[in-house]
Amino acid sequence: MNDLLPGDIETWQHVEKLARDMFGRFGYGEIRTPMVEDTALFVRSVGEETDIVGKEMYTFEDKGGRSLSLRPEGTAPSARAYIEHSILNQEPVTRWFYIGPMFRYERMKTGRYRQFFQIGAEAYGAKEPAQDAEIMDMVAQFLSALGLKDVTLNLNSLGDEACRPAYHAKLVEYLQAHRAEVCAECQARMDRNPLRVLDCKNEKCQAIAAAGPNVLDFLCEPCRAHFGDLQRKLTALGIPFVVNSRLVRGLDYYTRTVFEFVAAHPALGTASTVGGGGRYDTMMKGLGGPDVPAVGFAMGLDRLVLLLKETGQAFGAPVDLFVAVADEGSHDAGLALASRLRREGLHVAFDTRGGSLKSQMKRADKTGARFTLVLGEAERSSGKANLKPMAGGDPIPVALDAVAQALRALPSAS
Ligand code: ATP
Ligand code: MG
Repeated sequence: MNDLLPGDIETWQHVEKLARDMFGRFGYGEIRTPMVEDTALFVRSVGEETDIVGKEMYTFEDKGGRSLSLRPEGTAPSARAYIEHSILNQEPVTRWFYIGPMFRYERMKTGRYRQFFQIGAEAYGAKEPAQDAEIMDMVAQFLSALGLKDVTLNLNSLGDEACRPAYHAKLVEYLQAHRAEVCAECQARMDRNPLRVLDCKNEKCQAIAAAGPNVLDFLCEPCRAHFGDLQRKLTALGIPFVVNSRLVRGLDYYTRTVFEFVAAHPALGTASTVGGGGRYDTMMKGLGGPDVPAVGFAMGLDRLVLLLKETGQAFGAPVDLFVAVADEGSHDAGLALASRLRREGLHVAFDTRGGSLKSQMKRADKTGARFTLVLGEAERSSGKANLKPMAGGDPIPVALDAVAQALRALPSAS
């Protein structure tokens, strides 16, 4: 679990702000659900046989003897809230997004943490492929607004309750024939949840899965039409994608569409999936809620930040001005000037310790302030001072009661 400190946090805030802006444009409203839920919620939706529920949840008993879990993902809590607040009675289509920490007891490496942050969204009430396309468009626009290139959209369909059983049966038959060749975990998976074998990170298991039956060959007519229409819509929207029939994703609740955005960047190592999601038309009903189709996704904020740092961009508001004082007697006036300029909306730094002018100028350099203003007896009595550009150049004379206006008139002041 990481501490996020100033210096890094600006990048996080930039990503979060962009997400809020972008998702707002698409009509998604923000929700904030508790960090803790009943363990049963995740068991029933994410699935008992998934890595998440089987191995990765932080589960504990509270003082009332209930089994609770730190949320490992955001889709199940959103669905719970949707049911609990009878949202379907209020509107036929609902669009929600969330930003917040998730918890999974995983082996840590770059881009893989035990507390990590997800930005996710869910659209409830529309079963049409246009909804899938719209939500992918939103992710694609968000990633491009972040300036992230080389991100590939992988797409697949897992069919529905009508056609998946036949695929399951074929897959099990195939896997049984290769039982000796897959890892011990996959041997257990093939009995309980064969789709999970396709999600195994072991290379040998991946090769065996790749040579097995192809889920797309088993789609029933309505699922085939849905998938075809989705692809046409993505093409019409100008969103490039790759059909990857091995894509299953790590949760059990998906029906039909699944997708992943994968970044080709060495900074992420094996943690190259920045986000993914899919359709889950039966989950809400399975949780005891109304029969509402849904499609959603979640992105790893930690991974987005890692990628964004690689671009070398700087985020956060720059310091407009450093107020320095030439003598001890001007310190109160310096503090007051800084206070007034902050009230006027400027980012102003001031050394509250006082000290020599030389040490203050060193601080000014450290803050990256664009200008420094030195306040001494002469300036106080004349009401005039100079703005010294820290990048070099001639001092700019200003009246002390018009510093904010002067700074704003200069290029790129806030
Ligand atoms: P992976 O295959 O990398 O384990 P996943 O299928 O478990 O991913 P999801 O549950 O789909 O991941 O979560 C969506 C996104 O959240 C991932 O694509 C990733 O960017 C991010 N994510 C998942 N687990 C972690 C983690 N432990 N640390 C950081 N980010 C994570
Ligand atoms: Mg995982």
